[in-house]
Amino acid sequence: MTSLATVQHRLLSDADGAPVEVINPAGTACVVLACEHASNLVPVSLQNLGLPSEVRESHVAWDPGAREVAVGLSQKLDAPLVAARISRLVYDCNRPPDSAAAMPAKSEIFDIPGNSGLSDSERALRIQEVYEPFQHRLSGMIDERFVKHPTCLVTIHSFTPVYFAKKREVELGVLHDDDTRLADMMLKLASELTPLRTGRNQPYGPQDGVTHTLKLHGLSRGIPNVMIEIRNDLLKTPEAIKTMTETLARLITQATDSLKVAEGY
Ligand SMILES: [Zn+2]
Repeated sequence: MTSLATVQHRLLSDADGAPVEVINPAGTACVVLACEHASNLVPVSLQNLGLPSEVRESHVAWDPGAREVAVGLSQKLDAPLVAARISRLVYDCNRPPDSAAAMPAKSEIFDIPGNSGLSDSERALRIQEVYEPFQHRLSGMIDERFVKHPTCLVTIHSFTPVYFAKKREVELGVLHDDDTRLADMMLKLASELTPLRTGRNQPYGPQDGVTHTLKLHGLSRGIPNVMIEIRNDLLKTPEAIKTMTETLARLITQATDSLKVAEGY
């Protein structure tokens, strides 16, 4: 039986479930998928971070549509997917613990009351219960496969069409850090295979701190890696999500196949 004192020192309860989910762990593709912003779930203990429901349901709290695309890709490619189950406002798994954006007191134009004036112990609890389990599962999944055969890392995100009142024209972002192999191949193929307005390191880039997962799990192992950003107005219906998933599955399959030929991958 858990004592009350223990309960008070935990962030997640049984009602919240696990902080990370792994889908299709035995998938045979040479790709491991990650989705850091898959969920807008806020643990019961944080009382919705003091936010109204329209903010909790908006892009501020998660990447709408990204999990559905990632799950679809996991099925189509037969690839394992590691997805966060907790909102990025609680802890943004694509940021290191020393980043101000990991537990932001403000996101875009919204104040996040439940993140204001966090103590060191409150921060440590979020790192322990959200960030570390996610990184541990993703690391384990890549290592387990990498010893058997070449492996690439692909992370799936969505972005809002309007940010700080400015409209974004790009529809598909292909992001990379120092290792450009997979991104270069995907950008080349996207220009040939899709009508989508595709941009390199758009709408963000490494200078915005968005390549944490790529650096931590891709660059550190020398495996090809890429971050995909989809404009979320292209993910509004199940049909639109299916179409985008099919497009990305083709791009990822052809890009990883080409890399295998080009680099012995
Ligand atoms: Zn994201």
